[in-house]
Amino acid sequence: MSSTVESSTPSKVDVLVIGAGPAGLTCALGLAKAGVNVRIVDHSPTKVQSGHADGVMPRTIEVLQSHGLADALLKDANQVYTISNYNYEADCAGRVTMINEPTARYPFAATQNQGVMEGILGDALLKEGAVIERPVRPTAIDLSTDENELKDPDAYPIKVRVKKLNEEEAAEELVHAKYVVGADGAHSWVRRALNVPMEGEQTAHVWAAIDFTPTPDSNFPDWRNIATVNAKDVGIMLIPREGGKIRLYVELGSEDGLVNAESGRLDSAQFSPDRLLEIAKKAFAPFVLKTTPENVEWWTVYVIGQRVASTFSVKDRVFIAGDACHTHSPKGGQGMNVSINDAHNLAWKLAYTIRGWAGTSLLDTYEFERRSFALELIAFDKWFAEGFSAKARAKLIAEGNNVDLPGPLEAFRAFSSVTTGIRIRYAPSIITATAPDKTDENGPYTLTVGKRLPPQVVLRVADRRPVNVQDLCLSNGRFKLFVFTGDVLSADDIQSLNKLTTDLDALLSELPKGLLEVFSIIKAKDDAITYMDVPQTLRPHWTSIHFDGHASGPVYDAYGINREGALVVFRPDGYVGTITPLGEVELVRQYFRQFLK
Ligand SMILES: Cc1cc2nc3c(=O)[nH]c(=O)nc-3n(C[C@H](O)[C@H](O)[C@H](O)COP(=O)(O)OP(=O)(O)OC[C@H]3O[C@@H](n4cnc5c(N)ncnc54)[C@H](O)[C@@H]3O)c2cc1C
Repeated sequence: MSSTVESSTPSKVDVLVIGAGPAGLTCALGLAKAGVNVRIVDHSPTKVQSGHADGVMPRTIEVLQSHGLADALLKDANQVYTISNYNYEADCAGRVTMINEPTARYPFAATQNQGVMEGILGDALLKEGAVIERPVRPTAIDLSTDENELKDPDAYPIKVRVKKLNEEEAAEELVHAKYVVGADGAHSWVRRALNVPMEGEQTAHVWAAIDFTPTPDSNFPDWRNIATVNAKDVGIMLIPREGGKIRLYVELGSEDGLVNAESGRLDSAQFSPDRLLEIAKKAFAPFVLKTTPENVEWWTVYVIGQRVASTFSVKDRVFIAGDACHTHSPKGGQGMNVSINDAHNLAWKLAYTIRGWAGTSLLDTYEFERRSFALELIAFDKWFAEGFSAKARAKLIAEGNNVDLPGPLEAFRAFSSVTTGIRIRYAPSIITATAPDKTDENGPYTLTVGKRLPPQVVLRVADRRPVNVQDLCLSNGRFKLFVFTGDVLSADDIQSLNKLTTDLDALLSELPKGLLEVFSIIKAKDDAITYMDVPQTLRPHWTSIHFDGHASGPVYDAYGINREGALVVFRPDGYVGTITPLGEVELVRQYFRQFLK
């Protein structure tokens, strides 16, 4: 930890986010919405203009929707439903559905330039009153070693010196921060400054990516689907993009003269879009897929590194998120998604700690949950990258190995929970309780502790308006309690509901104000029901009562909840925290006691 930070013009902030890519912006947005005093700096003068990430997976779209931003993304994004697979000499081996998750609310991948995503998140941040400071770079960071200071929730144990890069004479500013989030990408300055090692390897896979608009005489029939092309000695992946553009990922190799033999570094001067298009031309033949120089928007060459940081936090005060803590192949379309979801996981935990509601044990769950996910991602990526590499296959066969490598489609499907983000399941911890009194870990419920809330449509009782339950779990920093009331018109059920409301009133009075939002989902026998039929605690607002009666299918059945009802707690990031039988408010109290002060 550096001790070179000297005083200049000190200022104080609760959280300093370094890096305004997808991870930093999502984190700053979550914090700003929770009312946390946050600053975000980036050394680049502008957001990404072209290229970089372009695939947004179903769970990430749900997360954006929870911030009210999915429409903005989907407005101009391309939607991908199908993957086609071509063998040598462009023989189509078939087409399959890309997203095979029955509960996906958005059953497609959206493709859109990373800059658009950064613009959407940046605009949302601005609405919360936070401005991205750029071009601004940190020059030194000093994390206190005083244990008392580190434990003091009101202390500012991190000093960061930041410099405006567009003002020659500008004095450096000394920022005192309670927490720092390093979201500064794969070459993270924060990670290096705090000596956090990356674990894993640089692979031998050299790839290029190129974005362009094909000419009208191109005739490759699957250019509006994802297409994997396993040509003789090159693997290519085509991604359909917004505005009629496409991206090609093209496998290169050291024999292409790209890797400097002495330094082992990539020598991109050896490379040009023309050379790349020439390789692609051969792979796509007999089809034609071509462009003109002015229609090439962006290109890059990269070596795949499959690495995860040894830790995602230092002393529970400095956190790293996104590419700063994991790198892998971009072809799987994961990096931006995982980065956004890291930040989505971290933001509310920081907010709760800063408010004094929770202690550091809550912060520890960030690394617990997201590092295990990053390791799963690397496992997928290894399989995916190897299976996709025509050069790796050719080499193994030439060496006499009897190889049976899985194709990229198999890898994508086998790891669908990772690649779509839909079936992520956080392991039991203080915030992800094991369901009580169940013989197996899922219990009778199909709602699963540790997984996200699957979408279902209910009717809002007051105006019979269809509402997706996911839209009740907005990213506003609050836990949500869903009371599956059972039948409120049955005399027995009403009696137990009255007892429930007394217990719930007591719990709500113990919890910090604003921590828990209550929603009720009624199982009523007839639709004569009004929202006033529910006890007042269960209807804090007329928009809180919903009715399981929509033609799209009863929600109770979909979640495996019987007419006796249930209590379900959702975490602020939309994952099921705990499920208890209706009436077991004490179990909900115990759940919160595990991590709230
Ligand atoms: C060719 C290619 C294709 C890809 N395709 C996909 C895809 O389809 N889907 C997908 O999900 N991911 C994809 N990715 C990966 C994706 O781009 C990254 O995983 C994602 O951008 C990571 O987000 P991040 O916020 O963690 O980091 P970044 O996007 O790298 O953002 C880091 C930010 O920090 C700033 N910064 C860096 N250092 C400093 C510093 N010292 N001080 C201040 N600011 C700093 C940078 O300017 C940048 O704005 C692709 C990547 C590449 C290269």
